[in-house]
Amino acid sequence: MPFTEEQLAFRDSIRKMVDKEIAPVAAKIDAEDKFPEDIAAMFGEMGLLQMWVPEEYGGPGGDLTSVCILKEEVGRHSLTCSTLAANNSIGLILPVLHFGTDAQKEKYLRESASGKIITSIAMTEPTTGSDVSSMRTRAVRQSDGSYVLNGQKSWITWGENASYILVFARTDPDAGYDGISAFMVDTKTPGFRVGRAERKMGRLGAPNNELFFEDMVVPADCMIGAEGTGFKSCMTILDLNRPTVGASSLGIAQGAFEVAVEHAKTRVQFGKPLGQFQGVQFKLADMAIKIEAARALLYSVCAEIDAGDHSRRAVIASMAKCYPADVAMEVTTEAVQILGSSGYSKDYPVERMMRDAKCNQIIEGAQEIHRWIIGRRLVA
Ligand SMILES: Cc1cc2nc3c(=O)[nH]c(=O)nc-3n(C[C@H](O)[C@H](O)[C@H](O)COP(=O)(O)OP(=O)(O)OC[C@H]3O[C@@H](n4cnc5c(N)ncnc54)[C@H](O)[C@@H]3O)c2cc1C
Repeated sequence: MPFTEEQLAFRDSIRKMVDKEIAPVAAKIDAEDKFPEDIAAMFGEMGLLQMWVPEEYGGPGGDLTSVCILKEEVGRHSLTCSTLAANNSIGLILPVLHFGTDAQKEKYLRESASGKIITSIAMTEPTTGSDVSSMRTRAVRQSDGSYVLNGQKSWITWGENASYILVFARTDPDAGYDGISAFMVDTKTPGFRVGRAERKMGRLGAPNNELFFEDMVVPADCMIGAEGTGFKSCMTILDLNRPTVGASSLGIAQGAFEVAVEHAKTRVQFGKPLGQFQGVQFKLADMAIKIEAARALLYSVCAEIDAGDHSRRAVIASMAKCYPADVAMEVTTEAVQILGSSGYSKDYPVERMMRDAKCNQIIEGAQEIHRWIIGRRLVA
């Protein structure tokens, strides 16, 4: 990918930081399943939690390409930390930049720029997964303009860590997609409660919580965008963020590939290194081809969106999420195979990478939903 000199310098500096700070602790974060507070603080100081906050609001700036470079590099060693990188984008920066008022931009973007807050986005409910329009959480407008929220969300990443959560709730129970609105909820608000954290297969250390809203009063100026436009804004935010999930996946694939190549060069069976057998070379070649293809797709999509061409945004964002996520699953599975029993051992990172890769085939639209988004336009 022809990155600019600035992008290459950024990538190299992130790679150095990741090799020094993240690689040594990635297995521990997974084993302890504990939120990496020190990494979050370090990312905040480095401007990495808040990448994409424009300089005019005190942020480091950034765009889709730079966020993807960051997430790919961190993802080489840890999906949890890659998810933490640019954490504020989906729950705060993108919605406020694209749909917020000037006053909301001043307030929320400046607070994000401090690098001291974690944010979340909350759509999923116990009975609402892929079909976002079926959500039940209610927001009822009061005579003074404020809203009262009641309902439950589930699987919310960083729910127990977040200072703000972008909550989607139904302001009109009968209006389908047009009855959903978005609220920037301060988690200190009375009536907000964090429930249990899910027990998961992977991406450990990044908690996923149930959230409860019980007669929680939210001021009118917390609504992001106009009433009833929440679903449409949600889709825009997701489109803009989805390639970054692809970037994390690409990082996982690259990380597992590097471990597999090293193992193939050093593990001797039948009198020579595994990598000298053509059967193993073919596996490595397929992994390399898929990773290069995923990288080319991802960054060409980033370039198109960063250039301001949004004409194909929904379709290409789905491609940029979907393909790298499948590649990560395939590559990590093959990496485990190439390492044999070592691949199945927690002493090596590839079993963790394989568990983590699965996560990205489910979140931010499961793979089937992305194929649906792409496919239905092909036959429209
Ligand atoms: C680790 C993790 C983190 C998450 N973080 C968040 C978060 O921060 N905020 C948030 O709001 N949510 C979050 N989620 C929830 C996530 O967005 C949902 O899990 C996802 O949207 C899928 O919904 P579901 O799990 O209910 O699956 P379902 O919608 O029940 O789907 C189950 C399966 O059926 C398939 N399927 C569904 N409909 C169709 C169809 N029409 N055609 C073909 N196949 C279909 C799906 O692709 C999937 O394979 C997270 C989930 C996980 C696992």
